[in-house]
Amino acid sequence: MNRTESFDAVVVGAGPAGTATATALAQHGRRVLVLEREKFPRYHIGESLIPFTYHALDRLGMIPRLRKSSFPKKYSVQFVSPSGRASQPFYFFNRYDRETVAQTWQVLRSEFDQMMVENAREQGVDVREETEVTELLKDGDRYVGVRARSKDGREFTVHAPVTVDATGREAMAATRNAWRRGDPKLNKVAVWTYYDNALRDPGIDEGGTTVAFIPGKGWFWYIPQHNNRVSVGVVSDGKYLTRDGIKDPKTIFHREVKENRWIEEHLAQGTCCGEYWLTAEYTFRSQYCADDGLVLVGDAYGFLDPVFSSGLMLALKSGVLAADSIHAALTIGDTSAARFSGYATEMTESIENMRKLVYAFYDPNVSFKTVAEKFPSVADDLTDCLSGDVNKDFSRMFAAFSEFTEIPESLPYGAPRLKTASVA
Ligand SMILES: Cc1cc2nc3c(=O)[nH]c(=O)nc-3n(C[C@H](O)[C@H](O)[C@H](O)COP(=O)(O)OP(=O)(O)OC[C@H]3O[C@@H](n4cnc5c(N)ncnc54)[C@H](O)[C@@H]3O)c2cc1C
Repeated sequence: MNRTESFDAVVVGAGPAGTATATALAQHGRRVLVLEREKFPRYHIGESLIPFTYHALDRLGMIPRLRKSSFPKKYSVQFVSPSGRASQPFYFFNRYDRETVAQTWQVLRSEFDQMMVENAREQGVDVREETEVTELLKDGDRYVGVRARSKDGREFTVHAPVTVDATGREAMAATRNAWRRGDPKLNKVAVWTYYDNALRDPGIDEGGTTVAFIPGKGWFWYIPQHNNRVSVGVVSDGKYLTRDGIKDPKTIFHREVKENRWIEEHLAQGTCCGEYWLTAEYTFRSQYCADDGLVLVGDAYGFLDPVFSSGLMLALKSGVLAADSIHAALTIGDTSAARFSGYATEMTESIENMRKLVYAFYDPNVSFKTVAEKFPSVADDLTDCLSGDVNKDFSRMFAAFSEFTEIPESLPYGAPRLKTASVA
């Protein structure tokens, strides 16, 4: 007979969003189970943090671990034109506190995610690896837990008043319920790999992110990691990257390297040490962030084009915010979808503000430098939004941008799934 266990919350997926939710719930004194299909450490893309990840990491108790780690410290971002001309790096400490927000990290996700799991376990979360959730269980219209299978093939059932979907871009709930909504324009392709001993900038710039342009507003990321490794990838329209019928990721990558002299020169002395990865599954959002007894966090809720490295900030923030809402809902004994309206409002505001800047970034008529020069009063807003301080009124900044580009309407997705009251 199948075993059944009970918890206050069951979280599906032990990526950053899942462990953030679970840890913050454990801090509230809740009994939480996290089920993760893989054995950690496992590979994952998404390696550059932005300054405003700090507060969630601090809340979760991760800062001392990160300070002890070998992850390179990231103080800046710089932009490089296709001819290889680099901008002055933008240093976060020109605006934020140098000891906290202004210094962040370039992480190796296998190690970072493992740290998040260890941190969760130390705070009382039960994390079980090599355990796949095969079904989200419902009783009528309400989610009541999951069915899972452990490595030895044994099936078991978990009951909880709240199930948290933190399954990343696989987005279990959104996919199975047909809630997945693509973005009308942000549909890019990314190809990436890793280099050993490629060129690194000296001193304080050693851990900075470089965004290097190729024609047509495509771009490379160049993210220095520890052990002398660099993560390097190119993002552009699929049509452009596969022009002349080229489909092989390695050939795509090396053809684009020749399109930016800085990238070419920095990689020239290094050795490629990883496979070539490709993803074409891009920006999407779930139509709903919650249902009765169910909450979506991180990429399972929505994934945004990674040009501004916002993924981990949004994943951790959504985890902490969702945990606070779940705790409040459990306290009053009502975990219906309506309890997650505040969570939805804050997260959709965060995602939409970033998304509008991503649209502007890809518009060939827009240069952020030109906008900030013409409207100096919006430069700080721009820095804040790009640094992840996203829950603000940016109407003045978007009004300035609207002189150069069309600002997209907010997408009508991401609210809780409220049931219409039945009429007697
Ligand atoms: C090309 C690219 C570049 C990126 N660059 C950056 C960057 O520089 N900076 C940044 O911040 N973000 C970046 N991101 C985004 C970042 O990768 C994600 O936002 C982040 O990983 C989201 O974390 P998550 O916890 O939601 O999901 P994930 O990290 O994907 O974790 C989901 C977990 O759920 C598990 N899981 C899935 N299904 C099941 C199941 N049925 N049962 C049990 N477990 C399951 C998976 O094994 C996985 O461990 C990038 C993304 C891409 C595609």
